[in-house]
Amino acid sequence: MADSTDETFMRRAIALAQEGLRAPGGSPIGCVIVLDGKIIGEGHNETEGQHDPTAHGEVVAMRRAGTAISNWELRGATLYSTLQPCGMCTMASIWAKIGRIVYGAGRDDVHEMYFEDRHFDTDDFIRDAYRKDLSIEGGLMAKECAELYFKPGQALTFEEQANL
Ligand SMILES: [Zn+2]
Repeated sequence: MADSTDETFMRRAIALAQEGLRAPGGSPIGCVIVLDGKIIGEGHNETEGQHDPTAHGEVVAMRRAGTAISNWELRGATLYSTLQPCGMCTMASIWAKIGRIVYGAGRDDVHEMYFEDRHFDTDDFIRDAYRKDLSIEGGLMAKECAELYFKPGQALTFEEQANL
């Protein structure tokens, strides 16, 4: 269950997302990774600026967390993301041995351009994972998080639709 500590870290993720919105080549998906009550990695989406399709906020934060603790295994860590992680970031979280994923806006709260599959819910990756020490919770501060994103059904240009 989410608590006030979770809200504190989600607020930080939202602040990072807002930074991403302002940063040249950034976009508003913020992520914080916490281990033993401390932030060990954080970031926002940098795909445009880094010319790197894998530089999603979660991956950026995972790389920094791994560097911070000199370990690619982030076992016991909690990952906070302002948006439900995409397939790539969900799988990376599984491989990183993250213990808990908490996200804000879910796929039904935002435009479909943030996801790669028409129907598949990335929560299902977690439910089907071999790992039993991994949980996922969505909807924390969902309204505040959803305000960062294009709305469901919003008319977007081809360039704005990252998944096309
Ligand atoms: Zn992603």
